[in-house]
Amino acid sequence: MNRRNIIIISVLCLLAVPSLYFGLKKVQEYKKTVQISVTDLQENNDNQQIEEEEKSIEKAVNNDNAEVVENQEKEIAAPKVPEKVIEEKRVEPKKTNPPAEEETKVEAGKIVDKLISWGFTKSSGRTIDTVIVHSSYDALGDDPYSVSGIIAEYKQYNVSAHYLIARDGTAYRLVTDQNIAWHAGVSKVPDGRTNVNDFSIGIEMINTKDGKYTDDQYSALNSLIATLKKKYKIKYILGHNEIAPDRKTDPWGIDWNKVNR
Ligand SMILES: [Zn+2]
Repeated sequence: MNRRNIIIISVLCLLAVPSLYFGLKKVQEYKKTVQISVTDLQENNDNQQIEEEEKSIEKAVNNDNAEVVENQEKEIAAPKVPEKVIEEKRVEPKKTNPPAEEETKVEAGKIVDKLISWGFTKSSGRTIDTVIVHSSYDALGDDPYSVSGIIAEYKQYNVSAHYLIARDGTAYRLVTDQNIAWHAGVSKVPDGRTNVNDFSIGIEMINTKDGKYTDDQYSALNSLIATLKKKYKIKYILGHNEIAPDRKTDPWGIDWNKVNR
């Protein structure tokens, strides 16, 4: 190499070093900007993702809230049932009030079926033209006016009546009209016919031997008599003592002036 070539190469090298330096620097800067932009993008993506996540979380939370609200609404709705129950309970006294009133103020002659299985002969198509009134009380229990006690006594003696009028005026039907209840025993009506059970209806009134009948009992008896008069051609309405005077004294203390016979 000659001297001139050496100088040229040296100059080129001297020129190359800074250009390389600046070139590298520029490349690095570019890289940095690219990185920054990439990170920006990533950050943006991240932010978007975060935003989306936040949104989805919000949605989820909202859904949860909605569910909670629904549940709360359900919970709110749920107590409505008890409210209804309460309403029904509140209504119940209204429902039970009329019967309670009926217990104290029984519709005269209200017939309640309490059919028994003893003390009568089954029959159909018999002619009914007589009503026999009796009285009885429970001599065995604590309460002489006990309906169930009196019926238990009938069972014990294997007797019955078609109707039993309680102190409150309720008329319990123990035997249907067409069946022959065993209430009269050996007996005779004014026209001479015997076996009065065969053509009569027996009505028992709850009363003790020295007691008085209640107004409700008289009302019930008259109502029942009116009903029977509509159904059958009634010839006689008599007390047990009137068809078996030698044996019977009931109906004890009855005031026939209060009876529509
Ligand atoms: Zn009698």
